[in-house]
Amino acid sequence: MNAHENRQILSLELNEQTLPAIEQITDGMPGGFFIYHADGDEELIYVNQALINIFGCSSKEEFTEYIGGTFRGLVHPEDLQNVEESIYNQISMSSKGVDYVEYRIIRKDGATRWIRDYGRFVHTSLYGDVFYVFVEDATERHLRELSDARALQMARERLEVLRQLEHETMALRMVNEILSSGMWSMEFNRLGEMVSVNWSEEFRAMLGYHDEADFPDVLESWSNLIHEEDKEYVLKEFYDTIADYKGKKSYSVEYRMLTKDQGWRWFWTAGKLSRREDGSPVIYVGIFVDITRQKLTDEALNAQRKLLEDALQQAQQAKQARSIFLHNMSHELRNPMNAVTGFTTLAKKHIDNKQQAAKYLDKVMSAANDLQVLIENLLDISHIESGKVDISETSCSLPDILWELESIVRAEAKIRQLELSVKCSGLAHENVFCDRQQLSQALMNLIGNALKFTPAGGKISVSLTESQGAPEGYGFYIFKVRDTGIGINKEFLELIFDPFERKHAAIPSGGSGMGLGLAITRNIVETMGGSISVESEEGKGSEFSIAVQFSLA
Ligand code: ADP
Repeated sequence: MNAHENRQILSLELNEQTLPAIEQITDGMPGGFFIYHADGDEELIYVNQALINIFGCSSKEEFTEYIGGTFRGLVHPEDLQNVEESIYNQISMSSKGVDYVEYRIIRKDGATRWIRDYGRFVHTSLYGDVFYVFVEDATERHLRELSDARALQMARERLEVLRQLEHETMALRMVNEILSSGMWSMEFNRLGEMVSVNWSEEFRAMLGYHDEADFPDVLESWSNLIHEEDKEYVLKEFYDTIADYKGKKSYSVEYRMLTKDQGWRWFWTAGKLSRREDGSPVIYVGIFVDITRQKLTDEALNAQRKLLEDALQQAQQAKQARSIFLHNMSHELRNPMNAVTGFTTLAKKHIDNKQQAAKYLDKVMSAANDLQVLIENLLDISHIESGKVDISETSCSLPDILWELESIVRAEAKIRQLELSVKCSGLAHENVFCDRQQLSQALMNLIGNALKFTPAGGKISVSLTESQGAPEGYGFYIFKVRDTGIGINKEFLELIFDPFERKHAAIPSGGSGMGLGLAITRNIVETMGGSISVESEEGKGSEFSIAVQFSLA
């Protein structure tokens, strides 16, 4: 250092007499003290014990050896240039030759410490130009200042975040007012940890809560109320959006929540994150809208659509069944018709042979009868289609109706080798007002089917019981026609009462109907205010039941 010629030089006697006194005084000082040559190698002239301690050495010799005996050896190599320049500048400008610098040192144990150094430039007669320096260990204070600076920096950031939050929530608040929805916000630190959660007053109110005490500002207040079925999906979307540092994902979910006083309701939540430059989240803000009404309307619309679709499908099925029916019917009509024309031609040809002609005419008659049955059925079905079945009630005995049916079918049952039983004992009321002809026809259809679809050796039982509980003046009756025949499979069982439906299975009797009998039967029963049902198992048999209420005669 050559610049000291320009400095104002203070004269203080540091000579052989004063040095021991200085040594004596400064050695006991708690702070460090040293003197060094301002010139040349800046050689140390004197160091006190406190300085030796700061460097983690125990003796002057150890210290001198470690430092190398110069001021330069004492300063952290990285700080040396700055320190020397700073001392030089300060001394040049100060009238009293004082300087103040702070720098790092490296202790003998390798630890870095901060030193605060107050120096003074003095000219002595014994050593020429010297600096004498007081030092203090400033490490603790330095670290404190550093952490204060960090805290300040963090506080600044937080303030910035809050400002941003206010800015974003302002716009959102307006949206919320328009949508009459709730609002929420969350704040994150630099590590990406959620440090605060805030639910708006409206948000709480929508769930039936009114203050922080019963709905605290924590995430669980919300997440605990999400429907179990929706929870996993909602939370996944929520956290995935936070974790998407590229900021491409947006958060928008619909889910159910348990409200305090209105049970489960549907909500829509959408949120947006603002991010730092590195993509880490800063603020998550969002809205919360009750969409229960829309959801219910949607559901109602869906149900309605489903009904329409079902109806359409049914209509299509009916249309298809009808065209199959028409096809079958023309076929069924053609056979007896061919017989009528064919045998009539033959009869005409053999008109002179009376016997032969009579035979042909019998065949014509039989074919005409078949035609008549078909045409009657068609008339019945057209009645069904137009919804017109006339019911004319007269007083009649229900057992009588059954006995009459039995007498009609007994002979046929015998021919088919079927056991037939009819039971109607124990009726509380035998006489009722009903349409004898319609009831007989309905029962006849069921019995006729039982005969048709039961192979020889089978059993057919017809029964009538009266149930209790009918209103005063009425009787409630159940007719059952059970057979041990071929039965009906499950799929067909559902269609069995529909017009034009018949199963193209082999029929033991060889006969084939038009699939109208049961449709006609159901129509009659329903017109009488009753209901018809069937239970059947393929291969085991079937049981048809008619339940109907008649007024007592
Ligand atoms: P059909 O005039 O063809 O007999 P139905 O409406 O009376 O018409 O019956 C429709 C179909 O239901 C029949 O073709 C038959 O396949 C089935 N079915 C009706 N009754 C019985 C029964 N007792 N056992 C088995 N199958 C039956």
